[in-house]
Amino acid sequence: MNNDNTLEHMLDAWYTSLPEPVKPLAEPGYRLAKHQFMKESINEATSKAGSNLHDVISGAVATLGARFDAPCAVAIDYDKEAGTFKMSDHHGIIETDLAQASLTLLEEAYANRMTMRGNKKSKDLITVPISADEEETTPVYGALQLIVPKTRPPLEDHYHETECVLYNVARTLALAIKAHNEHEQMQQHNRRLQDTAMHYKRTAETDALTGVYTRRKLDEILATEKDNAAKNDQMFSMLMIDVDHFKKVNDTYGHHIGDIVLKEVGAILRREVRRQDTAARYGGEEFAVVLPGKDKDAAVPIAERIRIAIKEHDWATVTNHKEFAVTASIGVAAYDVANPHVERLADQQLYAAKHDGRNRVHF
Ligand code: GH3
Ligand code: MG
Ligand code: MG
Repeated sequence: MNNDNTLEHMLDAWYTSLPEPVKPLAEPGYRLAKHQFMKESINEATSKAGSNLHDVISGAVATLGARFDAPCAVAIDYDKEAGTFKMSDHHGIIETDLAQASLTLLEEAYANRMTMRGNKKSKDLITVPISADEEETTPVYGALQLIVPKTRPPLEDHYHETECVLYNVARTLALAIKAHNEHEQMQQHNRRLQDTAMHYKRTAETDALTGVYTRRKLDEILATEKDNAAKNDQMFSMLMIDVDHFKKVNDTYGHHIGDIVLKEVGAILRREVRRQDTAARYGGEEFAVVLPGKDKDAAVPIAERIRIAIKEHDWATVTNHKEFAVTASIGVAAYDVANPHVERLADQQLYAAKHDGRNRVHF
């Protein structure tokens, strides 16, 4: 890139070509034009601020490279272990050795938090740290470098102006990186909060011993189903399931074996219902099942299947007691808009099943 048409070039060429006696007269206008150039360079190089970080960095590097007609590089993300930067963007840097040489200066500017100047072959390298301010505690994210050919009017003339532009652009980059990092952190924090909330929600919804839904979740689901039934004329049925003579299990074999029985009943219920059904622990050794879309005729065979599954379960193995038997009584009720207390209806049927001799389905 040898574009002699950049404003800075033309200004310099014009100023250099002036006869010495005239130079002092032209000086104020020349300085003013220089400042205008600087201001425009900073504005253009930072105009992408607010978009994503990659665009901000490549916008700055491309603008600086074009306006100063010089290769430009920015390096951020210093890897302490490897001792290197990930070069995040560059404009016009093609020679490997040049990139290597400039990397050393980028590292020095980063480590010393100060502007570095170096020479390499026919180039002058101006390197500024990327930091929001000069406080010792403010992080340095990387460094920004402009590689100016020595064929230019002596760099001495422009060094401070060029540095000033780089310095201002670097500050804007630092703010963009800071905002980017904070945004990432915030998102990470939000994800963790969501995970925690989800965990607590699941804990509140799932009965720890049996793995089926809690009474609280059951109440929610029942409310939704009743709403659906009233609005969309969609029926559902409910089963109330109670382990027979469970007190005797506890009294004879101990609470621990009682817990194993409840856990197994929970597993049987989860296995026997469809994905859209709900199995829940109603309390103690009493369970409930909600069957959306099923009327009483459809629900009764399901209740019967569950009763048999409980009865035929391999209780001897899971309790380690020979001839250990468990049965359950089940009450079935279908939701009826005229009598919406389906839990009470199912409970009445359960009571009747107990009364009739247990280990049976009543409806
Ligand atoms: P019925 O056939 O009439 O239902 O008799 P039952 O013995 O099953 O009914 P009852 O209501 O008299 O006894 C229920 C027992 O369930 C009493 C209580 O100690 C026990 N129980 C409730 N929750 C748990 C639990 O989480 N673990 C254990 N091991 N026992 C529990
Ligand atoms: Mg019982
Ligand atoms: Mg009971």
